[in-house]
This record gives sequence, structure tokens and C-alpha cells, in this order.
Amino acid sequence: MSDLVSLKDFTPADLELWVQEVEQPAYRAKQLLKWMYSQNVEDFQAMTDLSKDFRGWLEQHARLPCLMLEEVLTDEDGTRKLLFRLQDGEYIEGVLIAEGQRLTLCVSSQVGCAFGCRFCLTGQAGYSRDLTAGEIVDQICAARRELGPDERITNLVFMGMGEPLANFEQVVKGLEIIIADNGLNFSTRKITLSTVGLIPEMHRLSRLFPVKLAVSLHAADNETRSRIMPINRRYPLEELLEACRQLELPRRQRITFEYLLLGGVNDSAADARKLGKLLRGLRAKINLIPFNGYPGAAFNRPSPTRIAEFQEILQEKHYTATIRQSRGAGIMAACGQLRHNR
Ligand code: SF4
Repeated sequence: MSDLVSLKDFTPADLELWVQEVEQPAYRAKQLLKWMYSQNVEDFQAMTDLSKDFRGWLEQHARLPCLMLEEVLTDEDGTRKLLFRLQDGEYIEGVLIAEGQRLTLCVSSQVGCAFGCRFCLTGQAGYSRDLTAGEIVDQICAARRELGPDERITNLVFMGMGEPLANFEQVVKGLEIIIADNGLNFSTRKITLSTVGLIPEMHRLSRLFPVKLAVSLHAADNETRSRIMPINRRYPLEELLEACRQLELPRRQRITFEYLLLGGVNDSAADARKLGKLLRGLRAKINLIPFNGYPGAAFNRPSPTRIAEFQEILQEKHYTATIRQSRGAGIMAACGQLRHNR
């Protein structure tokens, strides 16, 4: 990586301090933030209200882009998979999903992932490194540049490559920039962070930001969950759900529980009943995700009847249980299909 200071790794408060350190007037931070995030400019020379000297100085000492959008693949359903190349040559992927008025960007938080969930292609490729806050934020900036004139990213989900809470400090810093009025200015209500259930970090995060949480459950008993998600040996289901009960949620906010339906593994009527029992008393929403296959996958997608039955059992118990429509499966951009090696 270069020795240039990466300005997108600074929160707005850090940028103000840096501007002081380099002996510039305080209003320079405001100017820079406006160009970086409201105008989405990547070139110091385009920042026309900065003096020519300062622009030249910035070119010598600082940099803006943290990644390059190298390729965009568009599925028949309109879902776009974005392939980003990082400065050290690593790759990550993001996904843009349009649904009605909503345009959601799914961002990555790590290059690869160390958690090894058996059904996930990212997990199988292994872990390379954490992303920096700038690399997290720059996925949004680069995706914005790809949008049509009438498009706007309305929602963000941390459901791309990696476990966001395993990269806690950088994800928190990234969120500060994403939420700040003078940063990317997203409302916390429009941000969902997905986790396999790292209990201490879930508590820490809930004390910092009221972003929505999606917990990947994927099984209703410890034996099955440990088999498909090794993290369950560290944080078994009862501890995880007790932690969810203790989280202080904003009024009317619910926790989404993601449940990947794997044919013959966790999709029986008995599993659905167990799941209903497990979530009793929680402000829960259940998102059922029928497995999206990939070459060499060890699992199958359940039949449509099985999926519908599973949902019905939960609805009879008065849960909101939705079935996630598979988006981007044709370009390997659906859940669990992202990987970083080309
Ligand atoms: S599902 Fe998430 S936590 Fe599990 S291996 Fe894949 S990216 Fe990692």
C-alpha cells in the first residue's frame, strides 16, 4: 500500500484533527467532506474551492480511492454484482438489489471469512484480511458512481463477504462515516448488519448505534447448528438467544433471524416447530432463505412445498416469516455465493 494518507479512513472528527495537524484552517475539513461524500469526487483537482497549492499538496500527501470497481455483472432480474479491486490486489464483491422503491447495497467487511460456515462459498475460500473503514465506505461511493440518474441507494446491508463484527473497530468507524450528516448521511434505520452471533460485539454495537441486526441462526438445535456453523461451539443457541433478549432495541425495532433452508438438514416440520419455540418472547422477524446452490455445493434447496410448509408453521405461531426471493443467483450474487478469488 502507498504511504499516502487515506482520507476515507478518517471519520469526520478524525479528518478535522488531521486538517489541524497539517496546519490548514478548520473549514478545509468541511470542504473536503463535501467533495468526498456529497459530490463523490475522487480527484483533488476537481475540488475547485480549494486553493491550487493545497490541491497540489494533497496530491503529494493524500489519496481518496481505496478500491476500483473493476467489473459489473447484471443478472436477468436486474441484480448487479460489483467486483472491487483493492489497492493490494485483493478482490471483494458487493451486490446492488432493486426492489420496488428500494435499492439496497450489500457491502463486504472482510476479504474472505474465517468462520467456515459449511454452506457458504465465501467461508470456503478462507480469510485473507479485514477491510479498512475506507474500503468499507468506498464500496458505497463506487457503487453510487454506477447508478443511473434516477437511482439512489436507499438501504445498506452488511451481508457481503466476511463477518462484520469480527472486524469491529473498522466497521464501527465505517458506520460513523456512513451515518454522519457530513459523511454519507444514511439513517441507522436503513442499515442492517448481519452476524453469526458474536455475543460481546453484538452488545458493544447496540450501545453505539441503533442499526438493525440480522442474526444468522440457520438451525434450531445445537447439534445441527454446530455441524453447519462452527461458531455455535463458542456461542451455543441458548446463550445467543439470551443475548438477543438482553439487547436494548429501539422502539418498534425487531431482530431479524436469518434461517437458511437446507434440504433434509434443517427444513422439517419438527425444525420449524423447534424454531418457533426457540424464539418465543423475542421481538423477532424470521427471514427464510432457500439455499442457493453453486457448483460442488454439499447441500440442496428444499422443494417449494417444503419451504411453504415451514413458513406456514411459523405463521401459525404468529411470527412474521418471509421467504427471501433469490436475487442474483444467475450471476452467483445471491446469499452465500460471494467469493474473492477470481
Ligand atoms: S456465512 Fe458469513 S460468517 Fe459464515 S462463512 Fe460465510 S461470510 Fe463467513
